[in-house]
Amino acid sequence: METRYIFITGGVASSLGKGIISASLGKLLQARGYKITIQKFDPYINVDPGTLNPYEHGECYVTADGFETDLDLGHYERFTGIETTRDNSVTTGRIYLSVIERERRGDYLGKTIQVVPHITDEIKRRILLNATKEHFDFVITEIGGTIGDIEGQPFLEAIRQLRWQLGPQKALNVHLTYVPFLAAAGELKTKPTQTSVKQLQGLGIQPEVLVLRTEHELSRELREKVAHFCNVDVEAVIQSQDLPSIYEVPVNMERQGLDAIILRKMGIDDLPPLELGSWMKFLEHRNNATKTVDIALVGKYDLQDAYKSIRESLAHAGTYNDYKVKIHFVNSEHITKDNVAGMLDGMAGIVICPGFGQRGIEGKIIAAEYTRKHDIPTFGICLGMQMMVIEFARNVLGYADANSSEMDPVTPNNVIDMMEEQKNITQMGGTMRLGAYDCELVKGSHTWQAYGEKDLVRERHRHRYEFNDKYRDEYEKNGMHCVGVNPESGLVEIVEIPELRWYIGTQFHPEYSSTVLHPHPLFMSFVKACIEK
Ligand code: GLN
Repeated sequence: METRYIFITGGVASSLGKGIISASLGKLLQARGYKITIQKFDPYINVDPGTLNPYEHGECYVTADGFETDLDLGHYERFTGIETTRDNSVTTGRIYLSVIERERRGDYLGKTIQVVPHITDEIKRRILLNATKEHFDFVITEIGGTIGDIEGQPFLEAIRQLRWQLGPQKALNVHLTYVPFLAAAGELKTKPTQTSVKQLQGLGIQPEVLVLRTEHELSRELREKVAHFCNVDVEAVIQSQDLPSIYEVPVNMERQGLDAIILRKMGIDDLPPLELGSWMKFLEHRNNATKTVDIALVGKYDLQDAYKSIRESLAHAGTYNDYKVKIHFVNSEHITKDNVAGMLDGMAGIVICPGFGQRGIEGKIIAAEYTRKHDIPTFGICLGMQMMVIEFARNVLGYADANSSEMDPVTPNNVIDMMEEQKNITQMGGTMRLGAYDCELVKGSHTWQAYGEKDLVRERHRHRYEFNDKYRDEYEKNGMHCVGVNPESGLVEIVEIPELRWYIGTQFHPEYSSTVLHPHPLFMSFVKACIEK
């Protein structure tokens, strides 16, 4: 089948869940047997989100091929189980960078470089790029931002051109908007949706499908009204109400025929059967779980999206353990020796979160000490693992000044030190140790057991600092074991204290590869240990 392109745009407000709708549509098409990929185009000027503070855009997600991307790519992978690549995440900055580099090389032969056609051509090239490398039946492209944003204009112009070039059966637009409920009037209001669609039409794009985000059920009359004002079939006006879980969204979309409508509009009348069996089983588990396990996220970003993948990984693992995971954010900046017991009171386990820089690290170290001494299941991820290592050096090995050279460049006991390959790097963007690397596990360790007795695993990284091998023997002798090592570089990637019920730190980020149908084994085993506690 020739590749078809679906564009997802958003209007009225941001944070309506375009990423979830894109991921859900991808899931449904995949469940009908199609080969799909989902990509995100973001209108901001950063070349990638790697240099962004999580308060700006939430977590930075990392692909297996080592690219720092928007967190929506995490949703795409969790929903579909398909790995994304560096070609699935593109920003304005990246588009401009390649055009300007080409201009500097002289590739444009004296031409004036303009937004149209040069920037829009580069956007179009990137939209089509994935399908030139491998065959896809559908390429879903989510456009970040909201219609009306100045910086989004070149992307919409590129879509307008592509729709014209490819024709109506090969390119289609789904527009997501918001229908607010005015409590005082007791009414749902469609005017913002109408305005947003008019704006899109003004740019030469007529959406074929509208998804209306709403907190209240939309009546048939209301959907007819929207259809009438927006030149859209009433069946193609779909509502997306708040649901107890994002993982209900594909089912809810399917019930209203989102995928079927799109397929028919794209000339496919013979719909292949939908296979959602294991997805439904997951939802069943989720809905049947009545008991709750309380887990603390010890971190410094008091923002839901900052630890998105960790939250989702815990939820996946909870579901398959037939529990609901109740996540409690514990701000490590506020943890002291005196209040740690109170702050972690009632927690069955803790995750010590990744991060950068000084802020909040002493609290993470205190938490690691507390849970080590009280044998509370503890999962340290990246910076979290590094804090477990520092805590052990300070309180067990007796190096009171132990630290990471990230926080204290002159510490004599740099148990966490900058990786050799990082020492001469001066540019910040995209230069960390990124992406998936092999890791050999020590037979018989807790970690090896948690992984189902696998000897070799592959996990994604994002860091500059690493366990300092110089201290390895001391750690081993005193009860913290290095149980995962990179076979090529010898870097220590996993530490554990086998004497405790579950005390494991990983230099990598297992949360990037937990999906709905394949929960990550480390999260599975961690949550199980929390439940057993
Ligand atoms: N700041 C630490 C490093 O660069 C940890 C990074 C992280 O947690 N992702 O090594």
